[in-house]
Amino acid sequence: MTSANQPEVLIVGAGLAGLAAAVALSKQGTRIALLERKPYVGGRAYSYAHPALEEVIDSQHVLLGCCTNLIDLCQLSGADKHIRWYDHYNFLEPGTAGGPARRSVIGPSGLPSPGHSSLSFLRASMLSLADKSRIALGLLEFMRGYPATDDESFAAWLKRTKQTQNAILHFWEPIIVGALNDTFDRCSTRYAGQVFYESFLKSAQGGRLGIPAQPLSEFYAAVADLAEQQGTEMHLRTSVDRIERLSNGLWQTTASDGTRMQAPKLLLALPFEQVQRLLVTLDESSPQRERTLPLMQHFIHAPITTLHLWFDREVTELEHAALLETRIQWVFNKTLIRRFEPAPADSLPGQYLELCISASFAELHDTREQLLASSLEELARFFPAVKQATLLKSGILKEARATFSVVPGLDRYRPAQDVAGDGLYLAGDWTQTGWPSTMEGAVRSGRLAAEKISGRSFVTADLPGSGLMRLL
Ligand SMILES: Cc1cc2nc3c(=O)[nH]c(=O)nc-3n(C[C@H](O)[C@H](O)[C@H](O)COP(=O)(O)OP(=O)(O)OC[C@H]3O[C@@H](n4cnc5c(N)ncnc54)[C@H](O)[C@@H]3O)c2cc1C
Repeated sequence: MTSANQPEVLIVGAGLAGLAAAVALSKQGTRIALLERKPYVGGRAYSYAHPALEEVIDSQHVLLGCCTNLIDLCQLSGADKHIRWYDHYNFLEPGTAGGPARRSVIGPSGLPSPGHSSLSFLRASMLSLADKSRIALGLLEFMRGYPATDDESFAAWLKRTKQTQNAILHFWEPIIVGALNDTFDRCSTRYAGQVFYESFLKSAQGGRLGIPAQPLSEFYAAVADLAEQQGTEMHLRTSVDRIERLSNGLWQTTASDGTRMQAPKLLLALPFEQVQRLLVTLDESSPQRERTLPLMQHFIHAPITTLHLWFDREVTELEHAALLETRIQWVFNKTLIRRFEPAPADSLPGQYLELCISASFAELHDTREQLLASSLEELARFFPAVKQATLLKSGILKEARATFSVVPGLDRYRPAQDVAGDGLYLAGDWTQTGWPSTMEGAVRSGRLAAEKISGRSFVTADLPGSGLMRLL
């Protein structure tokens, strides 16, 4: 039995999974208490005021048009007004003899899907005819969808479909390492195929690139506000150290300051290693622990490193680009991306760029000086103006546990949100969502958990195929 103001569901973790579940359930009138250990929401999609830089920084997160649940959540909360959308992707090859970079632009024309990007693809100077024909043959495999099972590695797929070295370096790598954040042998073809099917073949809308223009914690504060307006009780700075099932059937959380809360249902919306940490606080013979804990050993993390550079002048007119043949995979021009947002009164003139290095295993061990020197040297090969510009300030964010890797064979260990049973639920990008480690995966997991808890449906449908893809 629950008292009138006792929460019906305790949610631990106010990342996107926890927020999505809280919004879905509180909209139906379910009493929710959301417990978050940090002073802000958004989880890994966070920003913070860097004291030495005196700037609010984040690791740029991007979404795609096919992220239907994330977009829906942003629309419900009004955060969508701060997403900048782009139809075209820039791929830059390093300039030769100090000259500017060579640009290939991939994006839709008026042709029906799956051929909507084919004209720009045919024009792309970064690929030879031989590269293009191998890529086209490879993409044919994903025309009707992507594999249902995840046993094959993408490394094996590239070999099996005889992709050329240049096609790998200039096409598959920037897209797949950027999207799945690990090396080809630690990504399954199922998820690589999903990226191409959903964003490159199915419709032009699915491939649109969305970039939040606000710092991420500000961006997702709108979602937390919506949950609170609907009645969710928000408890920030509350780190849950222990969970237990009481003899009366209620679930109890104990926070690091000793505060206890109880509810009939408990949702752990946490990364897998945090779930593991809480599960071991349950009785050793507890069936919920037995059903869930063994799954965790199959998950591994992959890192992302971002560099934040403030130059005294403009070094590029582009808003974003993939940089080929470098460790820096993507550059985001934060000055331009944020130009419609209110700027801080003391913001510097010049240009703020963010460089993003996915699967940055090697860079985790580099010193700040090493990283900065190699990145500036690489950046100047694309934007020669970097050589004349003065770097006013710089910062580096290393996220060692940025994402989980969709290693081949992992799907059989990704738990359904109700696997634990008896009122204990799981959410988080790593649970069974059909998506890799992404914001969309996290929102789906929260909504799936809310479905299991309430018996109602919350997951937004995928985008339909357009053009000829409707027939396939
Ligand atoms: C640098 C970086 C770049 C990324 N880029 C992209 C991108 O471009 N596009 C994309 O889609 N995804 C990207 N991701 C991945 C994306 O951020 C995650 O997939 C998503 O945010 C995961 O959400 P979640 O709710 O599952 O988990 P989390 O965001 O990890 O949320 C879990 C929450 O639980 C809280 N918590 C943990 N333990 C406790 C405890 N004991 N008690 C209370 N609270 C606790 C944490 O503080 C956190 O707020 C990126 C991630 C990183 C780190």
